[in-house]
Amino acid sequence: MSAKERTLVLIKPDGVQRGLIGDILSRFERCGLKVIGMKMAYADEKLAGDHYIADEDWLDTVGEKARKAYEQRGAKVERKNREIGLEIREQLIKYLVMSPVVAFVLEGHNAVKHVRKIVGATSPGDAAPGTIRGDYSFDSYALADKSKRPIQNLIHASGEVDEAEREINLWFTDKELHSWQRTDEALLYRKG
Ligand code: GDP
Ligand code: MG
Repeated sequence: MSAKERTLVLIKPDGVQRGLIGDILSRFERCGLKVIGMKMAYADEKLAGDHYIADEDWLDTVGEKARKAYEQRGAKVERKNREIGLEIREQLIKYLVMSPVVAFVLEGHNAVKHVRKIVGATSPGDAAPGTIRGDYSFDSYALADKSKRPIQNLIHASGEVDEAEREINLWFTDKELHSWQRTDEALLYRKG
């Protein structure tokens, strides 16, 4: 069991442009997670590049996921995972700087995992109904790759606790994060 965690969510340019800021934010608020910092930000390429850091594990995982999606569609892939990952990273940086994003930090018990559950699978086409990606989009690997763009899945959410801490520090200063109490916390976190 983990104590209270913090995680970063970005409503990506497609979510902001489609007027979904309120709907998306309410999904997290209503489950009890606490917003401890929030802003609109217009990222430059430096911030976007630091966010999608060219970490070797990430490049390999994203490349592998993309390769599997290609192969499922019957396409033969000669390129290495890293090369595919680098191409997706370049597309992601362009996408993130396209127009403003809304960034917020959520705090709560198991926040990282729970937020990922609410967000859903990377490709909206695979994301379950009831998740944000599943409810608000039907984009897919096939459609995105055909247009040489990243999958437009409305949201970024940190994948792991250490990833969350790195990303929170990238988007927020300590002064922009606030300590306060939701009323339901008295019930959730009281000592037994
Ligand atoms: P997430 O944590 O679920 O957002 O997914 P990842 O960290 O694996 O990838 C980051 C982002 O890259 C995703 O949210 C998508 O926007 C995009 N992306 C990931 N995999 C692919 C892919 O195979 N093809 C394309 N076109 N975009 C991808
Ligand atoms: Mg990720």
